[in-house]
Amino acid sequence: MEEHTIKTVGVLGAGTMGNGIAHLFARSGYNVILRDVEKRFLDRGLDTIGENLDREVKKGKIAEAEKPAVLARIQPSTDVAALATADFAVEAVPEQLDLKLRVLKDVDAVLRPGVILASNTSSISITQLAAQTSRPEDFIGMHFMNPVPVMQLVEVIRGLATSDATFQATMSLCEKLDKKPVAVNDAPGFVSNRVLMPLINEAAFAVMEGVATPEAVDAVMKMGMNHPMGPLELADFIGLDICVNILEVLQKGFGDPKYRACPLLRKYVAAGWLGRKSGRGFYKY
Ligand code: NAD
Repeated sequence: MEEHTIKTVGVLGAGTMGNGIAHLFARSGYNVILRDVEKRFLDRGLDTIGENLDREVKKGKIAEAEKPAVLARIQPSTDVAALATADFAVEAVPEQLDLKLRVLKDVDAVLRPGVILASNTSSISITQLAAQTSRPEDFIGMHFMNPVPVMQLVEVIRGLATSDATFQATMSLCEKLDKKPVAVNDAPGFVSNRVLMPLINEAAFAVMEGVATPEAVDAVMKMGMNHPMGPLELADFIGLDICVNILEVLQKGFGDPKYRACPLLRKYVAAGWLGRKSGRGFYKY
């Protein structure tokens, strides 16, 4: 499916990333079919989109009158069959291999032939996910960053079988969404997490070994390296449990112990100190 013929986009999952992706497409003029398993998850996603649109109105990013029009373009559904009319689909369900494989199989059966199916996975192999569908050449990684409506980057990941046409259409689509796509090939952690997670992990080791406090580590990276957020602040924002999961994917994928998760990260996760979402991580919220 060429990018200029894409009018309706299916989004699987209305959580943190899914509602951001739905927001972005609808704000850019696409019709969106937003699918989650229960109505309450859809309601929560739509509430979040409404609040985020209010923020954009306040900041002057969109006109007030646009808000109802954006919301009207999003059709919520608990039925995967609703995606039959989609011209493009993005999967953003939780990062569990079995769940993703099941969801992708179901949606693959519903989408028309030739429709591109993209996954927003942060760490699972695009090649492996693609192989479970009947459309590996029309399958691609579209790794949006959180918060989706705000962050510029989309890491576009080509699986082994992804066709040139699918790749080009996805890159053009990102530009229509006013994003900056960067193309990478499929490898554990792609580029984003392969580079970021060892940084976060090393920062955690420095704290564990008493080299510096979290505040000092973050201050060095912010003021000395021009990072807008320190690595530990960022780890708290991402979720320390997610960081450990991604480090495990890197360690397993490369078979290299250099990616082993810092014991302090594991200890915090065991204590339920998951970062911002639980009220405590390296910092208290
Ligand atoms: P989340 O838990 O906030 O949302 C997932 C949503 O999927 C939930 O609403 C859940 O009810 C729904 N869901 C579960 N099963 C479903 C099904 N069968 N069909 C449709 N919906 C279903 O998760 P998230 O943080 O939005 O992450 C989604 C994906 O995006 C993951 O692969 C994650 O690795 C990736 N990702 C996350 C971030 C981030 O910062 N949160 C950044 C980049 C990529």
